[in-house]
Amino acid sequence: MIELEGRLSALRDHARAWADSLRDHALEADRHPDSLDRYLDLPAFSRLASLQIPPEYNDDPLEAGGHRFYLMDPLERVVCFEELARGDLGMLLGAPGAPMAGVLVAELGDDAQKEWFFEYVRKRPVWTFFGLTEPAGGSAALDLKTTLTARPDGAGWLLEGAKRHVGNATRADVGVIFARTGTGPLSVRAVLVETRSPGFTATPVDTLGLRAARLGEITLDSVEVPAERLLGRHLTSTRRGMWGWLRTFNLLRPTVAAMGIGVAQAAYDYVLTGRRVLRQDERIRLAGMGQRIEAVRQLTRRAAMAVAADPSDGYLASAAKMRAARVAEEVTMSAPEFFGPGALLEHPLLEKWARDARGIEYMEGTTNVQRLNVFAGLGRGKLGID
Ligand SMILES: Cc1cc2nc3c(=O)[nH]c(=O)nc-3n(C[C@H](O)[C@H](O)[C@H](O)COP(=O)(O)OP(=O)(O)OC[C@H]3O[C@@H](n4cnc5c(N)ncnc54)[C@H](O)[C@@H]3O)c2cc1C
Repeated sequence: MIELEGRLSALRDHARAWADSLRDHALEADRHPDSLDRYLDLPAFSRLASLQIPPEYNDDPLEAGGHRFYLMDPLERVVCFEELARGDLGMLLGAPGAPMAGVLVAELGDDAQKEWFFEYVRKRPVWTFFGLTEPAGGSAALDLKTTLTARPDGAGWLLEGAKRHVGNATRADVGVIFARTGTGPLSVRAVLVETRSPGFTATPVDTLGLRAARLGEITLDSVEVPAERLLGRHLTSTRRGMWGWLRTFNLLRPTVAAMGIGVAQAAYDYVLTGRRVLRQDERIRLAGMGQRIEAVRQLTRRAAMAVAADPSDGYLASAAKMRAARVAEEVTMSAPEFFGPGALLEHPLLEKWARDARGIEYMEGTTNVQRLNVFAGLGRGKLGID
């Protein structure tokens, strides 16, 4: 059992206060995802944008309970993001800052690229994007079609292709795009791109849940990328591209699992406070839901500690993500049953959480993809099970 010690419980309590402010605006943000900039005054929004930046580039960390937090550590993220997702996952995903692109830049960027990117994000709240999924499919990421071609004059690169289901694509100023320079797996590279670049267009994609995350489709029509924006250029061919983004996914997956736990906890708490008197069978059912949430929480904390120790060890992270997506769906589908027929009409938050939970299945890879990873981990004896 991993209990939170003083430092992490201070972070959790701080995030809880932020979560309440997200909850206050959750339904409105879901209805009007194009005007999230109106929430920039919320600390949960403005402060998140200046976190998740490594200490060497960030002189404004979060202070809570006498401790400093940069939210670069996977366990810190898990603790903080579970609480924020309990407030509202749509708004959390729609917040400015560099939750995904920043982790990749920290892994693959050279000093000048880190300086440029983190300064960009820190100066003022800006949205960023992480462009990997393509219209032909996201699970087979190595089969991506977007091309990165060296310009004939040697002055950089040209991007050509399309991305789909990219969070914050229409609001972002800067982000990363994955593209291939050739045919083999080592030719998949990542570049930093500004959305004002000629040839870059982003249009919204309507979604059923997590609408505030404002997924978008990106079209790249001969977008010029300066040579210095190619990530991993200082690394060997085996250490850049796929190596970097697999580590990035491993580092981020416990956070996505924590988001699923947050959504499940929100629905569970709603039943607990909304139905103070329960029948015996309902009490047993609710207790079972609470136990399942706690079990996935423990697994997720272990997964976060495993990737913090070794970012290439993402097997537990896959197991946690898979279980969290399922518990989020189960609990958000069961919660309305405690309020009788018409619950989804009478309790708009329950209706929203049931929609939002479906999106977790797709973030950072579907359950089938996680299963393949867990299976590989079992074969290598990496899951602590003989
Ligand atoms: C809220 C949200 C935010 C997102 N944010 C981003 C983002 O910021 N950037 C980004 O690039 N993408 C983002 N995505 C996209 C997400 O990464 C993809 O949806 C995901 O990778 C799955 O890809 P796909 O939708 O193309 O489905 P597909 O890959 O086409 O898969 C369809 C189905 O086939 C199954 N399948 C695929 N391959 C296999 C296999 N080998 N074995 C067994 N079954 C398989 C899958 O499990 C799934 O059920 C986001 C998605 C959501 C919902």
